[in-house]
Amino acid sequence: MTQEEQVLDKLSVIIDPDLGQDIVSLGFIKDLKIGGGAVAFSIELTTPACPVKEEFRKQADSLVRELSWVESVDVNMTAQPVGPKSNKSMKGLAGVKNVIGVYSCKGGVGKSTVAVNLAYSLARTGAKVGIFDADVYGPSLPSMVNVEDTSIYQQDGLLVPLEYKDVKLMSFGFVNQEQEAAILRGPMVTQVISQLLGGVGWGDLDYLIIDFPPGTGDIQLTLLQTIELNASVIVTTPQNLSFIDVTKGIQMFETLNVPTVACVENMSYYICGNCDEKHRLFGSGALRKLKEMYGFKHSFEIPVMTGLSEMGDTGVPLVLEDPSGLAAKIYSDLTSSVVREVSRLKFTNKALPKVEHTPGKGISFTEGEDVSYIAPNVLRGECRCAVCVEEFTGEQLLDKSSVPDNIQPTSIAPMGNYAVSVQWSDGHTSSVYPYEVLRKLTADS
Ligand code: ADP
Repeated sequence: MTQEEQVLDKLSVIIDPDLGQDIVSLGFIKDLKIGGGAVAFSIELTTPACPVKEEFRKQADSLVRELSWVESVDVNMTAQPVGPKSNKSMKGLAGVKNVIGVYSCKGGVGKSTVAVNLAYSLARTGAKVGIFDADVYGPSLPSMVNVEDTSIYQQDGLLVPLEYKDVKLMSFGFVNQEQEAAILRGPMVTQVISQLLGGVGWGDLDYLIIDFPPGTGDIQLTLLQTIELNASVIVTTPQNLSFIDVTKGIQMFETLNVPTVACVENMSYYICGNCDEKHRLFGSGALRKLKEMYGFKHSFEIPVMTGLSEMGDTGVPLVLEDPSGLAAKIYSDLTSSVVREVSRLKFTNKALPKVEHTPGKGISFTEGEDVSYIAPNVLRGECRCAVCVEEFTGEQLLDKSSVPDNIQPTSIAPMGNYAVSVQWSDGHTSSVYPYEVLRKLTADS
C-alpha cells in the first residue's frame, strides 16, 4: 500500500452516523498531502454545524498517528460550499447553502420564539446564520432581537441585513417601521415578501431560517414556490392542536417536497419551583399522536419559561442569555437534529423528475425509466394560481372549456426540487405544478 492508501485505509473506519457510510467512501477527505512524516488533509462535512465534527477530528487525528511513519497530523475541518441551485437565480440568496422554514398553523404558539432561538443555537455551533421574518402582518423579529442600529440601506442593489450577535436579520418590521402591512391585500403581501427575501444581500450563509407567517394560505404557498427549502420545523402547542390544521400544514410542505424534520411542542409543561413535576397545564398526548401519525423521529417539548416570554422585553434570545440553562439544552438538541437531517436529506436526495415538451406528443414526465405524457390543454386547465382558482374558497375561476386545444408551453423550468413553472402560449405565466400533481395527472390520463 502507498502511504496515501494507508492513510485512507485508517480513515475508512470512521462512519458518519447519519449517512451510515464511512467518510472516505462518502468523499469527505480532501487535499491529502504527505511530506515525510507530515500528513495533512481536510474533512469536508456537509455542514459546519455538524454535531460530530469534533469527534471526527479527534478520531481522524489519532487513527492516522497509529501509522508508524507518521510524525504529525494536520486535520482541517471544512464544509461543502454548495447551496440549492435554484435559489441562485435570486441574487441575494446566491451564497445561502441551506434554508429552513419554521411554521405553525396558528399564531401565538411561540413559532417566532423557536425560530430565533434555533437560529442563535445554530450560530453557537460556528455556523453562519440569518433569520428572515416573513410575517408581514405581525413581524416579531424587531422586538425579539435587540438591534441598536436599525437603519436600512442598500449596497450593490441589495438591502444590507441588520445584525445582532453575528446573526443576520431581516423583517418587514425593519423596512416598514410605519407598520403599513394592515392595508396590504393578499397578492401584494406575497409580492412584498418575495421581493424582500431575494432583495437582501445575505452573503455567505450556512443556514437561513425563515419564520413563516402562521397558516397554510396563499402567502405561505407562494413563499414555498419562490424559494427552495431544505427542510422545515413545525411548532405547535398542546391545547391549540387542531389536527386538521396541523395536518394541512405538514401536507402543504410535503406536497412541495419540503420535509418536516422536527416537531416542537411549545409550552408543553410548567415546572413550578416547588417540585420537579412537569405540570401539564394544557393537557398532553398531542405530540405523541403527531409522532404516531407522521413518524417524526425528532420531537421536542419546550416548557413554559419566564425567560422565553421575557425575550420580548430584553431582546436577548434565551439561548444567549442563559447558555447553560434548560432552554439552551433543548434548543441544542433541536439544532443537532435539524442539522443532521438536512445533511442526510442532501445525501439521499433522489434525482428529480424531468418535465419536457415534445411537440406532437405532449408534455413528458420522466421519472427513472418511466415516461408518461400529459396533454398541454389538460395541464393548463389544472393551473392553481390565484388567477385561475379563488385563493380562499377554492372556486374554479378559469373556465377549462375556454382553454384552446392547441395551447403550448413556451417554457418549462424547475422550481426548487419540488415543482416546475410553466409559461403558456396564451400569455399565462404563473402556473406552478408540484411533481406530486404531475404524477397524479399522468396516473389519471
Ligand atoms: P408566534 O410566532 O407563534 O406568533 P411568539 O413566538 O411571538 O408566537 O410567542 C407568543 C408569545 O408567547 C410571546 O410573548 C412569547 O414571548 C411567548 N412565549 C413563547 N414561547 C414561550 C414559552 N415556552 N414560555 C413562555 N412564553 C413563551
